[in-house]
Amino acid sequence: MVTKAIGQEIEAYCGKCKNETIHLITAMQGAQIDKVMCKICMSYHKFRAGTSAVPVIRKQKTVSKPTKGSSMKTRRTKTAKLLEAADIDSAINYKMSSTYEVDEAINHKTFGLGIVKDVVDDQKINVLFEDGERLLVQNR
Ligand SMILES: [Zn+2]
Repeated sequence: MVTKAIGQEIEAYCGKCKNETIHLITAMQGAQIDKVMCKICMSYHKFRAGTSAVPVIRKQKTVSKPTKGSSMKTRRTKTAKLLEAADIDSAINYKMSSTYEVDEAINHKTFGLGIVKDVVDDQKINVLFEDGERLLVQNR
């Protein structure tokens, strides 16, 4: 390999030309080329090796593997999944005086979002909330 020196020509990537062009070495730092001048657009910039030597395209993209978010989702409880599947938008605000049906999504002031699991009898329903099942009254 030929030792590089100031004034020599070298192929390098030029950010302005967005291409590999012939550059003149204008500054060295030890054995490393520091600055070069593009012979096409005459601009000076830090030396960056051409694609043939060191890949210019950065490969950092692999770091952002979004596995964390998806694994979090699979770890969710069955209840949470059920609640997610429920039609949250149509959740009715829970009122003792109303009557409910199985699979109806309700919104409880204290317990939050729930799904009617069972209609126990005319006046009782079993509702699955995120923290567990609760017996609520209906039709009172
Ligand atoms: Zn250039």
